[in-house]
Amino acid sequence: MEFQTTLTTTPVAEQQLAEILAAPGFGTHFTDHMVTVEWTPERGWYDARVTPYGPLTLDPATAVLHYAQETFEGMKAYRHEDDSIWLFRPEENAARMVRSSHRLALPVLEVPDFLAAVEALVAVDHRWVPDGAGEKSLYLRPFMFASEKFLGVRPSQHVTFMVIASPAGSYFAGGLKPVTLWLTTEYTRAGRGGMGAAKTGGNYASSLVAQQEATSHGCDQVVFLDAAEGRYVEELGGMNMYFVHADGSIVTPATGTILEGITRSAIIELAGKLGHEVTERRIDVDEWRDGVTSGEITEVFACGTAAVVTPVGSLKWDGGATPEVAEAGPVTTRIRQALVDIQYGRAEDTFGWMHRVV
Ligand SMILES: *Cc1c(COP(=O)(O)O)cnc(C)c1O
Repeated sequence: MEFQTTLTTTPVAEQQLAEILAAPGFGTHFTDHMVTVEWTPERGWYDARVTPYGPLTLDPATAVLHYAQETFEGMKAYRHEDDSIWLFRPEENAARMVRSSHRLALPVLEVPDFLAAVEALVAVDHRWVPDGAGEKSLYLRPFMFASEKFLGVRPSQHVTFMVIASPAGSYFAGGLKPVTLWLTTEYTRAGRGGMGAAKTGGNYASSLVAQQEATSHGCDQVVFLDAAEGRYVEELGGMNMYFVHADGSIVTPATGTILEGITRSAIIELAGKLGHEVTERRIDVDEWRDGVTSGEITEVFACGTAAVVTPVGSLKWDGGATPEVAEAGPVTTRIRQALVDIQYGRAEDTFGWMHRVV
């Protein structure tokens, strides 16, 4: 895939960029450019281009606005000490978008084309990648949506793939703070045969009311249980879960209806290398409640690209809560550190996870 590049004539000024990169926050500032590629059944993917960042003009009947046929990805570009810029396992994001798009009846964007699109944007907007100090990064958001103008339930015959980028600060500016989780028994996020394993906006839309419930109970995030029995731990709205046991073994919910996190799979390998036995299986929520109370489960953490690894302080539900944990545990801290050290080039990449762009 060849990209036609049209550079902006009004790039953000160096002084203003420096101010943005000093405290980027998350998801509010966007870089100077964006990538767009279009698709129809007749032409396949065409008109791959890098253009100045800007709003889209959409017909009110654009299919995605009505039927939510959409998939997306989330990944980061990291600046290393020597100013080189790297992606973390980008081919995994590309492969996952193929799987998600299959579930949403969207066309396949081949892995090399996905990588070329992401690399084209990082290369043109490389000055937007913050320095690695304080775990800053450039968050990349590839997404694909039904862009045909029609009302009617069938796969869109015009699809648009785009990549945008947004500088991101550390989630934990004030140190690793454990989060409090709300166990929802009212809502589920995925059933057998549903969209739980696809990265699609609809899953997030359905999680919002549960997240509101969590917030109204003073919790940071919501935990979902399986839809069939309401017993087995699935994941948070956008992060996978891990449980550390007293003997050092680690357990994470098996895949199927959960989203297969790339951070999750990296931690399976990394924790193994750090000497932990890692098992993927079903975890009954009572095993969690009883385990943290008895001391059988010593640490609980969540993981995902945005926050990397987040310690869990306590689980609350209608009528009870597990004991509060004030600080991140040693295993959580060690795994998190080992992962970010690889991402920022401070530790040897023995797994071959890093992919240089600039
Ligand atoms: C993206 C996502 C995750 C985390 O996946 P990573 O690849 O580790 O960022 C977990 N759960 C859901 C529902 C997600 O959408």
